[in-house]
Amino acid sequence: MKVAVVGGGLAGLASALDLVDAGHAVTVLEARPTLGGAVQTLPEREGDPEPPPDNGQHIALGCFTEYLGFLDRIGEGESVLRERLALPVLDENGKVAAIEPSLPALLRYGHLSLRDRVRLPVTTLRLRSAQSHPKETFGQLLRRLGETDSSINGFWDVFIRPALNLRCDEVDAGAGLFTVRTALLGPRSNSDLILPTRPLGRMHGDAAGAALEATGATVLTEARVSSLDELDADSVVVAVPPRESARLFGEADPALEDSPIVSVHLWFDRPLLEHPLAALLGSDAHWVFDRGSLTGSRPERGQYLTVVSSGVPELLEVRGRELVERIAGQLTERLGHAELLWSRISREPYATVALRPGVERPGVETARPNVARAGAWTDTGWPATMESAVRSGRAAAQHILSSASARVTA
Ligand SMILES: Cc1cc2nc3c(=O)[nH]c(=O)nc-3n(C[C@H](O)[C@H](O)[C@H](O)COP(=O)(O)OP(=O)(O)OC[C@H]3O[C@@H](n4cnc5c(N)ncnc54)[C@H](O)[C@@H]3O)c2cc1C
Repeated sequence: MKVAVVGGGLAGLASALDLVDAGHAVTVLEARPTLGGAVQTLPEREGDPEPPPDNGQHIALGCFTEYLGFLDRIGEGESVLRERLALPVLDENGKVAAIEPSLPALLRYGHLSLRDRVRLPVTTLRLRSAQSHPKETFGQLLRRLGETDSSINGFWDVFIRPALNLRCDEVDAGAGLFTVRTALLGPRSNSDLILPTRPLGRMHGDAAGAALEATGATVLTEARVSSLDELDADSVVVAVPPRESARLFGEADPALEDSPIVSVHLWFDRPLLEHPLAALLGSDAHWVFDRGSLTGSRPERGQYLTVVSSGVPELLEVRGRELVERIAGQLTERLGHAELLWSRISREPYATVALRPGVERPGVETARPNVARAGAWTDTGWPATMESAVRSGRAAAQHILSSASARVTA
C-alpha cells in the first residue's frame, strides 16, 4: 500500500515509522525545510554558543512511554537525561524549596504556610477519586477540595502551567486531573524528569528522517500539501496543526484556541543558577534551565541559560530588547548581578492548543476510511505534548492498517 503522511512533526514521523515498519511504501511530506515540527533547533546565527539554542526547552516525564519508545526506535534513547523529580523552586527572596513526589517533601515545602502544606498530601490523594464538573477549571476543582490562592500560585501552578501550558485557573479540570493522576499518582518513575541532552532538531527530526530513509521511506521537505487530492496514495495520514488540518479536510475552522510559549536564551558572564533547572515564583521566568550543564557543553566562561514562559500571550507583544532586559533583569535581581554576553528569543504563538474547559478535540477517524487524522492536539486523552503527538501518530497508523485489512477481507 502507498501511504502519504502529511506533516513531519512527531505525530507524522511516529505514524510513518509504524507504517514503514509494517512493510508499506511511505512518503512523508513536510512543508518546512526540516522535520520535527514544534520540536526544533533554531536556524544557526553567527555568535550562537554550543549547543545551538532550541525553539524552547522540551521536557518529557517518565510516563511518556510512547515518546520514549519513539526515541529508542530512531536510535536516540540515550540522548536524554533521566532524573527523579526534585524541582528547586525559588521565591522572590531567593529562598529555595523543592517539589518532590513524596509525603515528607510535600510537608517540607517551605513556600506555603504550614496549614497549606498539611493539606497538600490530603488534596493529592483526594484527586485520585475526585470527579470534575463540566466547564470547570482545575483551579475551581482544587478550591472545592480546600486548596487556597496561595497554594495554587505557590505549588500547583508551578508544574501545571508548564505541563498544560495554561494556569490552573484557565485549564480544564479533567486535563489537570489526568496530569496529576498520570504523573504524580502512578508508579514513582512516572514523575521522572526526562531532559534532552542534544539539540532537539538533531535528536528528533534529523534522526527520525534518517531512520525512515534507512527503512525505505521517502522523506520530502519543503513539500507543502495544498490539497489531499494531489497525493498519489492509497491511504493518507494528515498530521498537521488544527487549522491546516481543517483546511485540508474542507471542514470549518476548529473552535480551538492556541496557547503560546516564549523562550529566552541568555548567556551570562558568570554562573547564576546553582541547579540544572529551577522554577521561579512570581516571575515571568517560570522555569530556568542551565543549558550548558544539561547538554554537557558548558561555555568557556559564565553560564548559558534557557528561560521558558508558558501560556503567556502578554509576552508575545513585548518586543526583542525589552523582553531580554525584562527576563534577564528578573533573573539577576533574584540570583545576583551578571553581565549578559549574548541572547536569543524564540516565540511560539501556536505552541499547543489551549485545553480550556469544554474544549472538544476530534479523533483519528475522518469521513474517509483511508484517511486518518493525527497531531498532539487531537483527542488522544493526553494534553498536547510530545507524548500525545507520538500516540496520535501511532493510532493513525493503526487506523490505516486496520481499514486496509478490512478492505482486503471484504
Ligand atoms: C516552545 C515549545 C515548547 C514545548 N515544550 C514541550 C514540553 O516541554 N514537553 C512536551 O511534551 N511538549 C512540549 N511542546 C509541545 C510539543 O512540541 C508538541 O505538542 C508536539 O511536538 C506537536 O507535534 P505534532 O506532530 O502534533 O505537530 P507539529 O509539530 O506542529 O507538526 C506538524 C507539521 O506539519 C507541517 N505542516 C503543516 N501544514 C502542512 C502542509 N500543508 N503540508 C505539509 N506539512 C505541513 C508543519 O510544518 C509541522 O512540521 C512544546 C512546544 C513548543 C512550541
